[in-house]
Amino acid sequence: MENCIFCKIAAGTLPARIVQQDEHVTVFHDLHPQAPTHLLVIPNQHITSLNHASAADEALLGRLFSAARQAAQSQGIAESGYRLVVNTGADAGQSVFHIHMHVLGGRRMHWPPG
Ligand code: 5GP
Ligand code: ZN
Repeated sequence: MENCIFCKIAAGTLPARIVQQDEHVTVFHDLHPQAPTHLLVIPNQHITSLNHASAADEALLGRLFSAARQAAQSQGIAESGYRLVVNTGADAGQSVFHIHMHVLGGRRMHWPPG
């Protein structure tokens, strides 16, 4: 997708602090971290939001979880705990319209979220 910042990060044409990448998924540090560890997990292929995913994307969505688990392990927050967040649409505050999973850790999270 032209002009999608996360497509550009996945393609390597926009710089990011990449933690891990394979042919399907890229994990990188959020530019404005909301916790000591704040990663974003994205499919390399453009999907606008969870509302735009289909049954054909189930394997890819599963890969996002696997990559999040691996990244949490490599960043040292697997044992202390972490939160996965997928903001979808206006009420959730989605601001980048390329589906992404936040991985937040390194501090105690509050519940319910704001
Ligand atoms: P959303 O609000 O859509 O759930 O999350 C978008 C996230 O992308 C925000 O946490 C924001 O800080 C992050 N972000 C926006 N632009 C960039 C960028 O150019 N690079 C990186 N690494 N993160 C970004
Ligand atoms: Zn995109």
